[in-house]
Amino acid sequence: MPKSKSNLTEADVLRLIRKHVESLFPKTCSNCRRVYANYREYALNTQPLAQPVSYHAELGDWKPTEAAGNLSLANCSCGTTLAIGSETMPLDQLWPVLLWVKTETERRGISQQDLLGKLRDELRRQVLKD
Ligand SMILES: [Zn+2]
Repeated sequence: MPKSKSNLTEADVLRLIRKHVESLFPKTCSNCRRVYANYREYALNTQPLAQPVSYHAELGDWKPTEAAGNLSLANCSCGTTLAIGSETMPLDQLWPVLLWVKTETERRGISQQDLLGKLRDELRRQVLKD
């Protein structure tokens, strides 16, 4: 049986997500070929779109066998939508994050999208502060 509650703190979760997100850079815009050298440069120069989406969380699939399915979108300055996704995230790092999302949405009584939006905003704040 999988654990039903997460022992991670929000700081732990942010650290896991940030480590993964940082691993996706440098990132190149498919349209204007602009290169974002790191997450900080990306956060500074893109416009976040709506809330991040987790299809795993929406489906209640807390231990997916594929890492793809969690997505955060932002617009490049040229207007093209860029995506940061979980597809290359190791499952043993993704699962604890999903379990935390499940635990925290229940504890806080908020939607998954609101929680993911808060995480994304906090991650951007952190990286811009550094
Ligand atoms: Zn672009």
